[in-house]
Amino acid sequence: MPAELPDDTAAIYPWHENTWQRFCELVDSQKLPHALLLSGSRFLGKRQFALKLAQYLLCLSPQNGERCMQCKSCLLLSANTHPDLIRVSPPIDKKDKKEKKDIPVDTIRELKETVLQTAQQGGNKVCLLQPAEKMNENSASALLKLLEEPPANTYFILVADEPHRLMPTILSRCQQQSFYKPDKKALQQWLEIMSGGADIESAFRLSRGFPGRAKQLLLENIDKSQFPGLVQQFFQGELTALAAATKLGVDEYRPFIEECQLLVHSALKNSASNGAGAAIAAETGVFRYYPGSVLLQIETILFNARRQFEANANKRLLFESTLGKCQQLLPKSA
Ligand SMILES: [Zn+2]
Repeated sequence: MPAELPDDTAAIYPWHENTWQRFCELVDSQKLPHALLLSGSRFLGKRQFALKLAQYLLCLSPQNGERCMQCKSCLLLSANTHPDLIRVSPPIDKKDKKEKKDIPVDTIRELKETVLQTAQQGGNKVCLLQPAEKMNENSASALLKLLEEPPANTYFILVADEPHRLMPTILSRCQQQSFYKPDKKALQQWLEIMSGGADIESAFRLSRGFPGRAKQLLLENIDKSQFPGLVQQFFQGELTALAAATKLGVDEYRPFIEECQLLVHSALKNSASNGAGAAIAAETGVFRYYPGSVLLQIETILFNARRQFEANANKRLLFESTLGKCQQLLPKSA
């Protein structure tokens, strides 16, 4: 695998090409709605799509679905200093340096003042709001007023992993574009290109088909060959949570949890399709003493932990407490 994968911060996935062309045509014919919502799970490429669209809207002479890279606007974009690209996210807390829980109303008020001014570069203005579901009630109401009477040449691109948390009135003002997992073959092909033909099997498996996570896993460059054996030992009660935490490096915690969840998930799937008990035992015998209800509980714990890894600063603590909770559920005879 090459040391560095190509930077695709604003490149879109090949399976989004048709959608992209459709959006470009709307921009070119000046028919793009003023409020868009890109929605879908994490790791599907919504943010890079949103950024590329914002750049396309700001370029002063876009051509054939690409920004020109030469106009003043494009130069400012490349330098990350374009005054008419306004990004709205939860602010960083000055004290603990962590992202705040929500987007406060003051942020939306500032946004309003900015968009009511004429575009500094004489073209469009684009507001990228992500994650849009982090707006609280007050900030959402403030944004709604803007969406109801959008200033000229201003586009709002909302990105949401959990669109159901947005106010219905906001939803009704936005044209929604949903993002889904690519089909298996398309993702595998893409991973092969990205990795220069290196082994993509574990990245594909652990990512569960989410391209953004698969790419992270490739970049992490961790040898995951020992994981299945260790996971098996853990669920058979031969490896404690603490021993696992000591044995693994910090960067290995998350893929290890993913490996655990995969095994539990496939055991559950087998038991659902073949009747409880019998098929679970077939899963390398690891879960032969596990009641289905316990497997379900364990899967929930692992699922929640996977979500927390992105945000959690103390990965070791999260890893130990997650495996610790699972350990308490291990059947006595395991
Ligand atoms: Zn340009």
